[in-house]
Amino acid sequence: MTYTTRMASPPRPVTSAAAIATKASEIAAGESAMFSKPNCPVIAIEEHYWDAELCKHFSGPEGSKGGLTEQQLFDFGALRLKDMDDAGIDISVLSHGAPSAQKLPLDIAAALTSRVNDRLAAICAANPKRFAAFAALPTIDPEAAADELERTVTQHGFKGAMLHGMTNGEFLDHPKYWPIYARAEKLDVPIYFHPSLPHPKVTEVYYQDYAKDFPLVVRPGWGYTVETATQAIRLVLSGVFDKHPNLKIILGHLGETLPFLVWRIDAALKRPGQKAMSFRDIFCKNFYVTTSGFFSNPALLCTVMEMGVDHILFAVDWPFVPDSKPGTDWMQGVPLSDEDKAKILSGNAQRLLRM
Ligand code: ZN
Repeated sequence: MTYTTRMASPPRPVTSAAAIATKASEIAAGESAMFSKPNCPVIAIEEHYWDAELCKHFSGPEGSKGGLTEQQLFDFGALRLKDMDDAGIDISVLSHGAPSAQKLPLDIAAALTSRVNDRLAAICAANPKRFAAFAALPTIDPEAAADELERTVTQHGFKGAMLHGMTNGEFLDHPKYWPIYARAEKLDVPIYFHPSLPHPKVTEVYYQDYAKDFPLVVRPGWGYTVETATQAIRLVLSGVFDKHPNLKIILGHLGETLPFLVWRIDAALKRPGQKAMSFRDIFCKNFYVTTSGFFSNPALLCTVMEMGVDHILFAVDWPFVPDSKPGTDWMQGVPLSDEDKAKILSGNAQRLLRM
């Protein structure tokens, strides 16, 4: 079967839940012979690297990763291309790892971020068939960030930008950051909201009791998810989509739980006493999600049912997911038609990122 894009307003849903249930039971019974790898390119869009000058500004748990991960972050040859080849990934859309440029001081942010983006452009130009890029943006200087987005898109062919968490403890829905979204809408490129460490006060209150025994509960185990989902919800509440109705936002990790929660959030925000707004319509129209670091059939099918297959893009999150092949192997077996798999593996990226 084919899952078509869910419309932003009723009638919905277009997904055949009965068909999904059938496929899920077939998987449970081990009857996966009908699944195949569609004959299409594979584009992975949350694949990270580090820039030697920028990462000197990272500290604490965001600082040096050491070992193989650090080698992978700085590699654009043997390690990265071998991983892509082994997994059947044709193109990686490269982005800087967290916290990227989001914590740079004002006096150096714009110039340093431009150098970072120019070096990334050179990496892509050296291997244009395998690499594309999302820009880093100096969000502490919103007008400069908007200009840098335009410069990298128009001069370097970048596909949009990736932002990583707060800027000096502040969420990025504040109106002072809206020039970035105005420029993204004008250029028709997406802004990818990637996780970063939670605010230190949140870490202290929410996670400190368990962070020693379970350090990753602060990060991909839960903290990243809460941080990024909160940023996405705040963006919707801010009204930025009223002013910029064609702004496109990407979330990784299958939407940071929001596809699962969209019904409840939407219902709550429609109760008396709330400002008039349809969370569901905005989330399902303006947001796109990727499979980065989240290779789960139930989670994917929930996302398909809420958002439609046209809003889901393939990603691995290499090298924080240190091997891309489990991601493409998983896609081969997901209970979707080859046509839908091809959209997730590259068709949607080709459309959204104009590749
Ligand atoms: Zn990532």
